[in-house]
Amino acid sequence: MPDIPFQEGERRAIFVFDSEGDVILENGDTPPSTDDLEKFTPLLETYGRTTRDSEPCDLWALFKREAAMPDGLSFVSRRALPALLGYDFFNRAGIAYQMMNLTAHNKYCGVCGGAMSDHAADRARVCGACGNMVYCAMSPAVIVAVEKGDMLLMGRGVNFPPGRYSVLAGFVEPGETLEETIVREIYEESSVRVKNITYFGSQPWPFPNSLMLAFRAEWESGEPTPDGAELTDVKFFKPDEIPPELPPGVSISRRLIDSWLAKIREALI
Ligand SMILES: [Zn+2]
Repeated sequence: MPDIPFQEGERRAIFVFDSEGDVILENGDTPPSTDDLEKFTPLLETYGRTTRDSEPCDLWALFKREAAMPDGLSFVSRRALPALLGYDFFNRAGIAYQMMNLTAHNKYCGVCGGAMSDHAADRARVCGACGNMVYCAMSPAVIVAVEKGDMLLMGRGVNFPPGRYSVLAGFVEPGETLEETIVREIYEESSVRVKNITYFGSQPWPFPNSLMLAFRAEWESGEPTPDGAELTDVKFFKPDEIPPELPPGVSISRRLIDSWLAKIREALI
């Protein structure tokens, strides 16, 4: 077990994960307090802190596979956390999960083989022998509201829950600007060409490690046609045709859709 040098008043929550990233809560809805750490210790494979010296931090911990779950505690899906405990809690759980993975994959330095430890100020690991630093890997992805007149392009992903549609998204590839990713992804998934790309906002999306970068764009050419691999359906929707099943309110995809709807409705008044 690593020694965790907490200072007074620094503790916030303890995020105990299974290997899938689901989190232990008390009575189905209450995060365990770090004051309970001693109680938890026999149940944990390993634990550490979400380092950053200037602010209070949380603990991350990995549950022992063979440990018995005490009464009142249970794993809750990480996907349920935003609705259950709010986006801030979900985001902190994501930081804890990413720090847990960073630690697990960087016990020893890939350059010199020396032992690595948490960096004092950054969310990073540092080698005690050669100073090599390793940060959490992040995968940038674009998400785009493509507009055509008073219509919005949305598609059905192959893994979506029944009835759900959303705006289109895709991961950035090496060598691409964000604008190039947008043009490529929208065309690959829907056969639609876009122009006049403008920035909307961003949102970290942990589990595992995405950074969502949201944009608006305008239709330039092409009839929406699903690629069949990532999308099973894709089309332009008028405001009164928007399907009832949309991404959860906490997501930036939903904010893009809601913002478009508000803009169209305002134009109609
Ligand atoms: Zn090293």
